[in-house]
Amino acid sequence: MVLKDYGLTNERRRLVLAHISSASNMSQLETIRTEHLKNTRGEGQPEKAIVWLSYNVHGNESVSTEASMQTIYDLLTKKSDYLENTVVIIDPCINPDGRDRYVNWYNQYKNTPNNIDPNSKEHHEGWWSGRSNHYMFDLNRDWAWLTQVESQQRLKEFNKWLPHVHVDFHEQGVNNPYYFAPAAEPYHEVITDFQRDFQKTIGKNHAKYFDANGWFYFTKEVFDLLYPSYGDTYPTYNGGIGMTYEQGGSGRAGLGIITNIGDTLTLKDRIAHHYTTGLSTVEIASNNAQKLNDEFKKFYDNKDFKYKSYVLNGNSDKINTLAHLLDQHEIEYGFGTNTSVKGFDYNTGKTGSLRVTENSMVISTDQPKGTLVKVLFEPRAKLSDSVTYDITAWSLPYAYGMDAIASENSVAKTKRMIATVSDTGKVNSTNYAYVSDWNSITDAKFLAALLKNKIRVRTAHKPFSVDGFSYQRGSLIITLADNKNHKDFVGTMKSILTAHPEIDLEIATTGFVDSGKDFGSRYVDMIPNAKIAVLAGDPTSTLRFGEIWHFFEQQLEYPISVLDESYFNRVDLSIYDVLILPDGRGYGSFLKEDVINKITDWVSAGGKLISMGGSIDALATDKSFKIKKKETEKDTTINLNSFDISERERIKFAITGAIFKTTVDPTNPLAYGYSDNYFTLKLGNRAYDYLDGGSAVYLAARQNKPISGFAGSEAMKQIDTSLVFGTQNMGRGQVIYMVDNPLFRGFWENGKLFFANALFMVN
Ligand SMILES: [Zn+2]
Repeated sequence: MVLKDYGLTNERRRLVLAHISSASNMSQLETIRTEHLKNTRGEGQPEKAIVWLSYNVHGNESVSTEASMQTIYDLLTKKSDYLENTVVIIDPCINPDGRDRYVNWYNQYKNTPNNIDPNSKEHHEGWWSGRSNHYMFDLNRDWAWLTQVESQQRLKEFNKWLPHVHVDFHEQGVNNPYYFAPAAEPYHEVITDFQRDFQKTIGKNHAKYFDANGWFYFTKEVFDLLYPSYGDTYPTYNGGIGMTYEQGGSGRAGLGIITNIGDTLTLKDRIAHHYTTGLSTVEIASNNAQKLNDEFKKFYDNKDFKYKSYVLNGNSDKINTLAHLLDQHEIEYGFGTNTSVKGFDYNTGKTGSLRVTENSMVISTDQPKGTLVKVLFEPRAKLSDSVTYDITAWSLPYAYGMDAIASENSVAKTKRMIATVSDTGKVNSTNYAYVSDWNSITDAKFLAALLKNKIRVRTAHKPFSVDGFSYQRGSLIITLADNKNHKDFVGTMKSILTAHPEIDLEIATTGFVDSGKDFGSRYVDMIPNAKIAVLAGDPTSTLRFGEIWHFFEQQLEYPISVLDESYFNRVDLSIYDVLILPDGRGYGSFLKEDVINKITDWVSAGGKLISMGGSIDALATDKSFKIKKKETEKDTTINLNSFDISERERIKFAITGAIFKTTVDPTNPLAYGYSDNYFTLKLGNRAYDYLDGGSAVYLAARQNKPISGFAGSEAMKQIDTSLVFGTQNMGRGQVIYMVDNPLFRGFWENGKLFFANALFMVN
């Protein structure tokens, strides 16, 4: 066994991989690896099975790492014959920050001896649980989007091996027994018959051991194979057999707990089960090494997908951001030649055409990662069943807000490097002003850097043109006069531009514009250097809070204060300019009259409140807030009180993460940088009426049918003509409502500018 470090977490814990095989295999590990990878191109003479076992992606599912050690030990000793033809790679802990958070908490709160009574504190972890990573991201939703450092570093190693078999070890609720493959429907249509069958082969082998021990388990339920960002689906879309195994336990279980049938579930039991499936997986892989290699090769043979090429147009910031993601997935792309292309038009959902230029990105399915290209880019994933564990739509052209065509033909492309040269040469101490456009999160990062460095920046609330260039609303104007007291204006500007080479800065020699408003106009506003507070704790969801925290610190790079609900009442809000209430389910008990009064007084005095998701419901009950829940006539033929009401009836009210085309008011500061339409990812049926004069983004009449993903018939009625993002003036301040979540899992790139607008443009 060789233990290799592959990175560090946010809290600087080590990320490690154990490579385990026979001594002779270990002496030629690099040859084995390269022969295996050649198989993706139909070359090489691979003979070994490659198995990758990942543990503890959810930090408080603590049995996983414990089980990995016993598994490694027995592989090296009594099961070493498996290793003659198999390389096993073990990640003992994908999420060390979360795991340590849980384990340290447990050791602090556990009884001595440990207490199996489920009421005891050692079984109640609380809000700041160890499931997610430092930024409260669920790493088992991040394989495709790679927003987190753990995922980014792990994927580099994963792509070096592309295992035949990958297992993601988890825990579920304490009252469940054990879940293993085969998975539940829906399966994504790219999953091959062999991949389905081999799951069954593995599952039957596990069942043999579980039956012999009298252990309970279930298969083919709950855990499906669709959303591409999991530890089972992602490896599957890369040619492997990707699986989730779930032991009953998780953060509640401790060293032992009484289950609802009166049994005691111990950590030792949990280890035995994960250990058993781990070894059984390696056994089956070893017995089928040749078959796995043959089928892996077939998976990578060129597939005849309907769409052969995806062609995308967008501003250079969006192209660069997408290129960065594709590079990490080792997906090849090129750029167009002057022509036009016909096919499925993402904007209209119908057949259409697109002008192709040398700035158009072209991605073909005719490449080793072609299956992954199809899964990430196709307009709609085919759903064999609408009852699913997760979102049903994620198509990248919508997430990145790009004009796109899916073509049934192969579109010519050329390779070129994306070159960015910083504009430092343009900055001197005599130019009247500098102007930057405002249409991407890249521009928002630039603004954040300017503000942090005490550069004063204005924004234009009307389109204008000067010195031969035209600019849209929201464009940033940096004048020499505003910054005459800055201690090193030119030097600071140059160093910020060096750090943001993708920014296009233009010189304005005068404030006398050719069209629009002059730089001294009241329509050209100073952007405040906002002090920002975010609510955390019980009313909020940890994941939704974490997305905001990560957005500020790791994307925008702008400071925030985290205000916990436990002392919120004692905080003097007047020192903050912006208060963010993340989505959550606990607002009913938090937003009582005194807290609402405290917030409305602060807003009326000039504060800016950003209310997201569940917090809106609680505010809507107070008359100071103009937001109103939308009333919808219920279909009285659906009786949800019935004892035997089926999941099928209930799902009529559900939207399982679907994409909708919305209408945008680009004159609202909340929508600066956007065009007339925006594709939003809706995660539920929450619906509010339009806001008079403040509906920045909304579903117009009959925009209630998803362009991708699933929405039930009743849910579609509920969201018809409803608000998505809106603004309301209150005294000298503003309230911004975000019904949908533009920061969801950090991957909906095109929504992030709304959040930046809420911070900097709405004033
Ligand atoms: Zn889990």
